[in-house]
Amino acid sequence: MSSREEVERILEYIQECSPGQNEFYQASEEVLFSLLPLLENDSRYLNNNILERIVVPERTIIFRVSWINDTGEIKTNLGYRVQFNSAIGPYKGGLRFHPSVNLGIIKFLGFEQIFKNALTGLPIGGAKGGSNFDPKGKSDNEIMKFCQAFMSELYKHIGKNKDVPAGDIGVSAREIGYLFGQYKRLRGEFEGVLTGKGLNWGGSKARKEATGYGSVYFAENFLNANNNTIKGKTCAVSGSGNVAIYTIEKLYDMGATPISCSDSRGTIYHKNGIVLSSLKEIKEVNHETLEAYTLLHDDCEYIAIKDYPEDGHAVWQIPCDIAFPSATQNELTLNDAKQLLQNGCILINEGANMPTTAEALKFIQESKMLFSPGKAANAGGVATSQLEMSQNASMEQWSFEEVDIKLRTIMQDIFNTAYNTSKEFGCKGDLVTGANIAGFRKVADSMIEQGAI
Ligand code: NDP
Repeated sequence: MSSREEVERILEYIQECSPGQNEFYQASEEVLFSLLPLLENDSRYLNNNILERIVVPERTIIFRVSWINDTGEIKTNLGYRVQFNSAIGPYKGGLRFHPSVNLGIIKFLGFEQIFKNALTGLPIGGAKGGSNFDPKGKSDNEIMKFCQAFMSELYKHIGKNKDVPAGDIGVSAREIGYLFGQYKRLRGEFEGVLTGKGLNWGGSKARKEATGYGSVYFAENFLNANNNTIKGKTCAVSGSGNVAIYTIEKLYDMGATPISCSDSRGTIYHKNGIVLSSLKEIKEVNHETLEAYTLLHDDCEYIAIKDYPEDGHAVWQIPCDIAFPSATQNELTLNDAKQLLQNGCILINEGANMPTTAEALKFIQESKMLFSPGKAANAGGVATSQLEMSQNASMEQWSFEEVDIKLRTIMQDIFNTAYNTSKEFGCKGDLVTGANIAGFRKVADSMIEQGAI
């Protein structure tokens, strides 16, 4: 059987065994086809049935989360933890609380996490988890009750040398605090079982900033390799959560101008540059929608979601040099990619996980735009989580500058690994292929060395 036939067989197998898991299929299709140059070069991967094994999680845990709301009603949500691959280290990956969460979404995120974690060069396996719980509109007490109920089951499956969850959409410092408190109560031990912790109780400085900062460091490395720089560039950013805010902060630091941000209700276009202090106040302190930004700045434009074009998102209609999709999966469509190219965009740098649809990605790869895949460009968050684990293990806390320097080096190494691997396989600058092959090779070689497990 040829490598291509084997890839097609595995994709059929995924469709049969995971019906309706569209995002998981999309992520698998992208990774598996991009591995063809490696598979054709080295027969060990097919001989050891690595593809068939790597697309199946080592363990999938689905559980009921029942909690009591403020009016005394019992509410029930679904909880998930997909422990995908532990070939190179304990499972590591975030928890997402969002009403759209289902098994297919958690599997796509967990699958991507395997290769992302391998790319960091650190000893961490891939996992992801979460719940279809919607934190929006819930009181602080309800969030705490939910987190405690969620951890009451999850604690049985995690541990500092086994599986170390972190945050993702809808899970930030507050939720990590409630989850950690409940874990400690149930286990009777203080251990670094979660990352993204508060600075007073084992958290790492610069963890909050790491994904956004890392995304900008990655973009700078890619631009430098193309005799260009981020300085002086106009940047469109989507999202207004953790990744987007710290992408915007680092863009200013590096002399670029971020001119947009968005949330699930609308987009802000501020031609003179997003005012970071207002954005942080609205999103991090007051937890408001972005419409509140227009009350503070009358020279900005607000495009509500109802006014979005049919197939495309307002944020990608804004002329920019670089696009940083930093909100959620499949938020940048084919029409958006065409618009970005027409507007002169030179680089799409994924801060979110799989924000680009399959059709848009194909178009971008055939165009002259540069493209940084999320599993490389947004790996700064998980890399810094691993630095948090190292600090916990040695009972140390490093300074912000120390962590930031390590983050910068890790992002440069990730870029070099993806870029050099793309050169090795004759597609210089195709970082989708470079990142996928480099991440896969490390995990697959480890699986081969560990035998049929
Ligand atoms: P947050 O919850 O902090 O922010 C998410 C942002 O995206 C919010 O502005 C939210 O708007 C917006 N958003 C979410 N869903 C949608 C949607 N369906 N349509 C439009 N906007 C939406 O999450 P993060 O910033 O942490 O994560 C953003 C992305 O980055 C995700 O893909 C995540 O997996 C990825 N990532 C995050 C890492 C981290 O360290 N946090 C690490 C690596 C990747 P609203 O508030 O209105 O819902």
